[in-house]
Amino acid sequence: MGTENKGYPNFPARPAPSSSPFASAPPPGIPPQSGGPPTGSDAVGFRPFPPSASQPIRPFTPSGPPPAPTVGGMRPAQPSPFVSQIPGSRPPPPSSNSFPSTAYGPPPPPPGATPFQRFPSPPFPTTQNPPPQGPPQTLAGHFSPPMSLRPQQQPMGPPAQTMTSGLPGANTSPSPADFNMAARPGFQQSMPPVTQSYPGVGGLQPSFPGYPSKQVSQPPPMPFQGPPGPPPVSSYPPQIGGFAQRPNLAAQQNLHPSYAPPTSNVQGLVEDFNSLSLASIPGSMEPGLDHRAFPRPLDGDVEPNSFADMYPMNCHSRYLRLTTSAIPNSQSLASRWHLPLGAVVCPLAETPKGEEVPLIDFGSTGIIRCRRCRTYVNPYVTFTDSGRKWRCNICSMLNDVPGEYFSHLDANGRRMDMDQRPELTKGSVEIIAPTEYMVRPPMPPIYFFLIDVSISATKSGMLEVVAQTIKSCLDNLPGYPRTQIGFITYDSTLHFYNMKSSLSQPQMMIVTDLDDIFLPLPDDLLVNLSESRTVVEAFLDSLPMMFQDNVNVESAFGPALRAAFMVMNQLGGKLLIFQNSLPSLGAGRLKLRGDDPRVYGTDKEYALRVAEDPFYKQMAADCTKFQIGINVYAFSDKYTDIASLGTLAKYTGGQVYYYPGFQSSVHGDKLRHELARDLTRETAWEAVMRIRCGKGIRFSSYHGNFMLRSTDLIALPAVDCDKAYAMQLSLEETLLTTQTVYFQVALLYTASCGERRIRVHTSIAPVVADLGEMYRQADTGSIVSLYARLAIEKSLSAKLDDARNAIQQKIVKALKEYRNLHAVQHRLGSRLIYPETLKFLPLYGMAIIKSTPLQGGPADASLDERCAAGFTMMALPVKKLLKLLYPNLFRVDEWLLKPSADHDDLNNVLKRLPLAAESLDSRGLYIYDDGFRLVLWFGRMLSPDIAKNLLGADFAAELSRVTFQEQGNGMSKKLMSLVKKLRENDPSYHPMCFLVRQGEQPREGFLLLRNLIEDQMGGSSGYVDWILQIQRQIQQN
Ligand SMILES: [Zn+2]
Repeated sequence: MGTENKGYPNFPARPAPSSSPFASAPPPGIPPQSGGPPTGSDAVGFRPFPPSASQPIRPFTPSGPPPAPTVGGMRPAQPSPFVSQIPGSRPPPPSSNSFPSTAYGPPPPPPGATPFQRFPSPPFPTTQNPPPQGPPQTLAGHFSPPMSLRPQQQPMGPPAQTMTSGLPGANTSPSPADFNMAARPGFQQSMPPVTQSYPGVGGLQPSFPGYPSKQVSQPPPMPFQGPPGPPPVSSYPPQIGGFAQRPNLAAQQNLHPSYAPPTSNVQGLVEDFNSLSLASIPGSMEPGLDHRAFPRPLDGDVEPNSFADMYPMNCHSRYLRLTTSAIPNSQSLASRWHLPLGAVVCPLAETPKGEEVPLIDFGSTGIIRCRRCRTYVNPYVTFTDSGRKWRCNICSMLNDVPGEYFSHLDANGRRMDMDQRPELTKGSVEIIAPTEYMVRPPMPPIYFFLIDVSISATKSGMLEVVAQTIKSCLDNLPGYPRTQIGFITYDSTLHFYNMKSSLSQPQMMIVTDLDDIFLPLPDDLLVNLSESRTVVEAFLDSLPMMFQDNVNVESAFGPALRAAFMVMNQLGGKLLIFQNSLPSLGAGRLKLRGDDPRVYGTDKEYALRVAEDPFYKQMAADCTKFQIGINVYAFSDKYTDIASLGTLAKYTGGQVYYYPGFQSSVHGDKLRHELARDLTRETAWEAVMRIRCGKGIRFSSYHGNFMLRSTDLIALPAVDCDKAYAMQLSLEETLLTTQTVYFQVALLYTASCGERRIRVHTSIAPVVADLGEMYRQADTGSIVSLYARLAIEKSLSAKLDDARNAIQQKIVKALKEYRNLHAVQHRLGSRLIYPETLKFLPLYGMAIIKSTPLQGGPADASLDERCAAGFTMMALPVKKLLKLLYPNLFRVDEWLLKPSADHDDLNNVLKRLPLAAESLDSRGLYIYDDGFRLVLWFGRMLSPDIAKNLLGADFAAELSRVTFQEQGNGMSKKLMSLVKKLRENDPSYHPMCFLVRQGEQPREGFLLLRNLIEDQMGGSSGYVDWILQIQRQIQQN
């Protein structure tokens, strides 16, 4: 962003003015690298880097009889009778095997296969040249071409005219290296340590600093030694609740054999609890010491709103949530706050209708920012000197008000024009950025697709669904008419597609040299969608058919990725990868290292969960640098090393979508919806984000999917409403002297329309000297978001056990501190007390420990599943994450029987239930919804009428074989509309709907029971035991 002030010691060092897109005006004498400011009108027909006329020539020719290519060369699609004449090429394989890559031993073609079995019909038939049936005659009976060449058939289109144009834009445009290297000196090529470790802790530290590592599941039995008498109840402050332990519950539970409850103490507990009268404590639990009265977030995420009432000009909490809205005034106070101190930011969160972020154009005035700290003008700045000066709320600098921005002040010192200035009244605004916020013209939206077409991709139906979905979204891709698009497919070779608008059909070119990748037709691989629309559609229509008989099992993923990078690195954009198998050829080839149970519990365990080959991190770093954001879609039922593949998404601000064992008949809808959302949601391009805060504090670590450029600038090649980022704060000064602290998030990005914009969110928080106030202003959702990210990061450098223990120890420490705060004044006995704001914290903590990335051991989640979930959770906004951690469970059979309007507010109609088996009545029908999947649970005794209505003739069948579909009766329609509504309410993922009947094992266990996190499952504790453990540890001294 380049907006900090060097002379101001309390702010991070500011990069050179032109060092990033957030730079203010470039220094005199350095011409802007772009050809001029882009404007709305320039956007049309935007072509930032015109193809150069003369370029180095690559070893292929545009027309005429093609010369014998060198090995590793490529050949455009055209009749190729000369295949066998290539000098120096590899001798033909002995059989009619159509795969030249014999070294990797592809399977022989099926009986009757011809050498060109892969393309039994011409991929791109043209009208003037009808496709021959079967393999091309010129080649029939010949051996397959050598590695260097795979001739394609005529109908792919004429040889391109531009083949001599060579490499892209070497002369006429700023080279990507110039642009990026010169412009971003501070860019970190390697992974910044702060993204991988806890602040102030080396990446490989075994646990949270200062916390003992302890087995979570088997704490030593500890006697409870609280004083037996009831505490002076009336004197409890309202924020105190009490966790009452139900004495004999642990004994009643079906405990895991490995769990040894402190049975000898149970009687003591009974007496202890019996002596308490919690009922009258304000803000505490229901009476009865019943676990059913334990706090549960059955109303979902409740954002702290007292704070919003106090500061109505703050940005909405959907954009910025502090872990506590009371900032400690001293380091010593901060050190007693054992919870994370920080924030979760979702800069582009979706807004409800009517609450859109106002767009501001300062025009010739220029953006009003603090001269010293570069803070954007916001509702908390103050105007003085009759309106001629304004004081920065972050650094207190007195700035001049530019003449055009001047307004008289009223008697209260308020600007007269206040109501016409959203930037002075609203916590969130979007500012149109002038040219000095650019180092090049705003890029057009770019979607590039890298698609695996090996046998598994086609057999599973993935290829077909992907092609159809992309085609169906073409009208809705953001940024028309500037949007650009391109494709590469790959198996053991790379397939490029010339999409030039003058062609009627795309032209396919194959590159077989995986070691020295070059681009055939570099100018026509990425094309303007509106100009090349027909060619793109023809390609997408033909794609599944082209490869339907492909039997190639190899995956030259790494080389394909490099090729995509070469196509995209001039402009950047979004790269969508569809990978069906373990990369097996060329750079980035991965081993079948799999999930080795023997490694669990050893020091090497974490290595399973990080990228194996440095290739992946390096490619991610390169892509981020060149503004390429990567989303990875993975589909295999076998090990694909998501840990490595996901690294690409992680460091480019992207996302991992995982469909293990993809079959289009089962997962097709899910893929269609999620890909469509990925393609059509509003996206911010070539973005950087920075969060500023007042003097004396600073953000010290960042957690999520992104890469840091400089110490506090988050690089986000593509960002959207489904991404959130967490960060931790630390105090730089021993004592803060201000009454309040301000935070300002600024996201500089290119909108799909071509405008460069800055989204600014500003918030204020009071500085306090009281730990109790920090607890009172705590936000569990934000804390849990940070905890989850920290634990997942820890699992990348430590054992799962250590990551889980760290969470538990953090919670223990925080609640212990809270207890100490009140212990002097009250006799607390052995009760677990907690602040009202944190009443769900222990439960969410347990949910983090039981979440897919962190749960159990090798038997509890496959390694790929674990890693995919980890990448996903690192990016989730608070609400979405909380829902995944403590999903919705509600009973619907009674509701289905009731006559009610379709427009019922779901929240009123359906009551969320505790996630425990005892919530399930075998006469009922239940829906479980975690935002990623829906499970319909049919009780064994559910009325057969209801089952018939909902399942039709299949009502008694094994539900794994039943397709969930509408049955043409009112009840079925009602249920279907409910499912639809649940999906619409939460559109970032498309939950698949699974049906299961009570007792259908192991499905029932897999789909539902193991997600009932309050129950004891395998080696993990249930809610009651968890509370007992925490309580016991708190009392240890
Ligand atoms: Zn300032």
